[in-house]
Amino acid sequence: TRADITYFGAGPAALPTDVLETAAQALLDFQGTGLGIAEHSHRSELATNIINEAKADLASYLDIPAAEYEVIFMQAGGTGEFAASVYNLVGAWVARQHAAVLKELGSAADEGAVTAALRARVETGLKLDYIVTGGWSLKAYQEAVRLLGPEYVNLAADARAINDGKFGKIPDQSTWKLSNDAALVYYCDNETVDGVEFPEFPAVLAPRPDGTGPVVVADMSSNILSRRVPVSNYSLLFFGAQKNLGCTGVTVAVAKKTLLPPVTTQPAPALMRKLGLPIPPIMLQYETIAKNNSLYNTLSIFDVYIAGQVLKKLLKTYPDKVDGQQAVAEKKASIIYGALEAHPDVYRIVPDKAVRSRMNICFRVTKNGNVDDTEKAFLKEATSQGLTGLKGHRSVGGIRASNYNSIPLEGAEKLARFIEAFAKA
Ligand code: PMP
Repeated sequence: TRADITYFGAGPAALPTDVLETAAQALLDFQGTGLGIAEHSHRSELATNIINEAKADLASYLDIPAAEYEVIFMQAGGTGEFAASVYNLVGAWVARQHAAVLKELGSAADEGAVTAALRARVETGLKLDYIVTGGWSLKAYQEAVRLLGPEYVNLAADARAINDGKFGKIPDQSTWKLSNDAALVYYCDNETVDGVEFPEFPAVLAPRPDGTGPVVVADMSSNILSRRVPVSNYSLLFFGAQKNLGCTGVTVAVAKKTLLPPVTTQPAPALMRKLGLPIPPIMLQYETIAKNNSLYNTLSIFDVYIAGQVLKKLLKTYPDKVDGQQAVAEKKASIIYGALEAHPDVYRIVPDKAVRSRMNICFRVTKNGNVDDTEKAFLKEATSQGLTGLKGHRSVGGIRASNYNSIPLEGAEKLARFIEAFAKA
């Protein structure tokens, strides 16, 4: 049964049982309306309330300054955000250049001259910087190359270059080759496949004292809600719901309002075509989704509802909000890593100690030399004890224990005891 299992899957992840019980009821009959939550119109007042409450609770839990950031529910997953971030931030960059060109040439300048000046700026100045530290930032980088062409995309750092072609380290920030006025600098805060997490916000990307600074974008799909985030340092952060927030189906984008109208408006499609640059599909255009309070088209209110219930539970459990959850996440991770470290002859932790993820704990079971067979035995034995979902990502193999928020302290302790017992057996 559900009560016998601790599920360490990487996503979708386990959800709190009481949230699912409430949601199951809501699916049948939401608040005595006779209609389930997935049947109510996304245009109804109750749907709007669910969206607004989830937004407010997220902002409260993470201390998102509501006056400066827009919280948007999107639908194309983390993968969709790889594209959305490119489209929207290239648009914002072009909008800035457009304003500068108009200032330079005067607003009476003819359209051809403006376009020519803009084209020159695009050719010499448009760059998107990617810090590649694992499989997910690599995919984001590849998507940018696919959408724009390699000439505009700068691989500012590649962690494989300092680790024999494998992920597991984060290159020293002094070696990052950052562009001047990049349309975005992208990184993945927690690499779900490789078990690499940024220990803190990369200082080299911090805003300058005058408030200017790089346009920082971060993928926080697999560690959001597990630690404090210096939100003001980001232009955009995004995360799929299916690890720490809720169930698969919604993706959250937290976008700085200065990137949205009235401050920044996506350039006219005709202009972008003249410049040879792509425009966002309407579903990926932040200003459209934001303007419609995430209801430009039919949004799964059920998914938002689940996320909202998870947030309410977190706020109730931790009076000090994300700081409380952060302490628990750190404790759980240290218990599991501690058990692995106690047996270096049996276990090899994959990433470098300085960048180990608190969320995805990746290791190999090297006892007996025959790693494959030993890992199979490890997984089989773990499963028989109710510790499931521990198989590593298909691209890297090994074992991965995903230590998301819904894993209770006792679950982490149980896994640590198993790691210990398996080593001794
Ligand atoms: N980024 C990260 C860090 C992820 O872990 C994942 C999915 N596991 C994705 C992006 C892609 O998310 P999706 O499957 O929702 O497109």
